[in-house]
Amino acid sequence: VLDVTDRKLIQEELERLATTDTLTGLLNRRSIFEGANKEIRRAIRYQYPFTILMLDIDHFKRVNDTYGHATGDKVIQLFAEVCLSCLREEDSLGRVGGEEFVAVLVSSTSEGGRIVAERMREAWEATEVDVPGGTDRFTVSIGISELVETNETFDMVLERADRALYASKSGGRNCVTIDANIEAHSD
Ligand code: GH3
Ligand code: MG
Ligand code: MG
Repeated sequence: VLDVTDRKLIQEELERLATTDTLTGLLNRRSIFEGANKEIRRAIRYQYPFTILMLDIDHFKRVNDTYGHATGDKVIQLFAEVCLSCLREEDSLGRVGGEEFVAVLVSSTSEGGRIVAERMREAWEATEVDVPGGTDRFTVSIGISELVETNETFDMVLERADRALYASKSGGRNCVTIDANIEAHSD
């Protein structure tokens, strides 16, 4: 027979499992996007800035191909730790794909986001990872976008971060790009 405390613990555990990415312990895709949707509405209502980072580890296929899938998993876990250590308590980080992550920065402009992103990029570049036969280091590309219009949805901000990430990839990787919101600001 389960008492009220047991039920509550089970409920909390189910909730944790439903919102957590098992490999990294970060928020999973659904959970980070749900949180971001709430946060963006609050940012619009109270007129504070809202910025997201989209991160994708560079040449990750090579990691798997060279060292195997288990090492690949370890690299993803370590990357999550490094990124988390660069964020403030009130920010959130989620794993949204294999080696893709999204950070939601509360009350931060894209310039503030750039500082955080550069910190992550440098910290990751400097991280020595134990791999079969020695150590290796890896890099990450990052795209940044900030909420600019009060009628924007999270999906639109995400789409712009993705475009900025793509620019970082084509710009040679291991770099940070802010989406300039070309349509809205071009003259
Ligand atoms: P790019 O610099 O353009 O990002 O190159 P990339 O090799 O990282 O390109 P891409 O994003 O296409 O490759 C991601 C690879 O990540 C493909 C897949 O094999 C691998 N992958 C996805 N999820 C996992 C995972 O959970 N564990 C491991 N070990 N590998 C994963
Ligand atoms: Mg990828
Ligand atoms: Mg990649």
